[in-house]
Amino acid sequence: MCYILRKERWGAVLFNSSKRKYWLLNDTAFFMIKKLLIYKDRTVNSKILDFVKKMSMTIDNTRIVEFSNDFYPLTSPLYVDWYITPKCNLKCKYCFLTPQFWEIPELNIFSKHVIANQLVTSGVFEVTLLGGEPLMDVAVLLEIVQILTSNYIKVDISTNGLLLQKFTKYVSEFDIDKELVTISVSIQSLDPVILEKLTGFRYEIRQIFLKIEKLLQNNWNVAVTTVLTHLNIEEIPKIFEKCSKIGIKSYTIFYPYTSTYISLQAIPSLSDILALRNKLRKLKEQKDIRSCYHLVGAFNFLLFNSNKMLTHIKDEHPFNKLGTLFCKAGITKLDILPDGSVVPCILFPPNSWKLGNLLEGTSLRDIWGANKKLYRLRDRKYPKKCKECIWKETCRGGCAGESYNKYMSIDRPDPRCPIIKGEKWNAIQN
Ligand code: SF4
Ligand code: SF4
Repeated sequence: MCYILRKERWGAVLFNSSKRKYWLLNDTAFFMIKKLLIYKDRTVNSKILDFVKKMSMTIDNTRIVEFSNDFYPLTSPLYVDWYITPKCNLKCKYCFLTPQFWEIPELNIFSKHVIANQLVTSGVFEVTLLGGEPLMDVAVLLEIVQILTSNYIKVDISTNGLLLQKFTKYVSEFDIDKELVTISVSIQSLDPVILEKLTGFRYEIRQIFLKIEKLLQNNWNVAVTTVLTHLNIEEIPKIFEKCSKIGIKSYTIFYPYTSTYISLQAIPSLSDILALRNKLRKLKEQKDIRSCYHLVGAFNFLLFNSNKMLTHIKDEHPFNKLGTLFCKAGITKLDILPDGSVVPCILFPPNSWKLGNLLEGTSLRDIWGANKKLYRLRDRKYPKKCKECIWKETCRGGCAGESYNKYMSIDRPDPRCPIIKGEKWNAIQN
């Protein structure tokens, strides 16, 4: 288990890479860690967990939580999504990337090294590598993973799985700490016909599972993800069961973006989503299913976690509230495009939301610290239409990118919200 520390103006952030959990330390706690000599390089001895937990209670909560644009509590993002290549080997209908994304020029390996080093020097804790398909150029990808993990950054590789044999073939040539890597494989259906409808190609999903099993045998962390659509909603419990059987511990369902609705010309209805939730709950009750599922991307608290999440938010340490704000764009994360441009999130069009470019002499810390567009996102209040909603303080109107793309404003509610669409609250809560 690895703990990573980042110095901040008021103390330090501590990150547990196995559990993906963050703590705050005040100056005194940070000083004591240094004195006890348990802080080496960026890592902290795991034996100090109890000590750290105690010290993290001593933080001046008020000062940390009442941040303004002059005092933002973080000097750089906690995590970054890096769209490392626009190349892809599938044409998925559920893909949320715009036609403009595919035209972005890709950087050469030297420029990618510059970006990887920027992520290291700015103290980012987690990086997701996406594309396109990040395994299209596996040697380049593995070089980047090596740079990041040798500096204790946790890496998630988001892949469609078709090129996993290349990963297995070449990975031994690199010095990579497996504990710091998760390979997230996107699986949309077990049915070849549905799979072809969704991905644009016919391929054997059985082969992908065989590759996953090989990775698991070699002690790699593998997660599986599915984008929820009306075409594969019946498939999701089957995928979940299959994942559990082969020992996958994390299964994530992504709530689709509006662009997916448009390309698929239909959305799953709320009653279908609730029926899915109930099926998954029943499966989870069975003893032999140990994987956990998550719904991310929109309204997971509404549909899957309900009041449990609300209690959790109320009890949370104020700093962690930053993490529980529904939209993380500019709050704890930024996105990097294939040409090195930085945007709050991939959903924001770069022509109006580009914050800078890491190859044009601006550092990630500079972009993070002094950018009026990020001030706007951090300062975002819940929209008037949401005033009756019990989730308004944490949701703040949902996905800012969806709101911007629909209304050219981040101050309107997410157009996908079931409540805003007039669904009955009771139906969601049960
Ligand atoms: S009503 Fe508004 S605040 Fe509530 S869940 Fe929907 S978008 Fe979020
Ligand atoms: S803009 Fe939407 S997709 Fe991006 S971080 Fe916010 S909620 Fe997530």
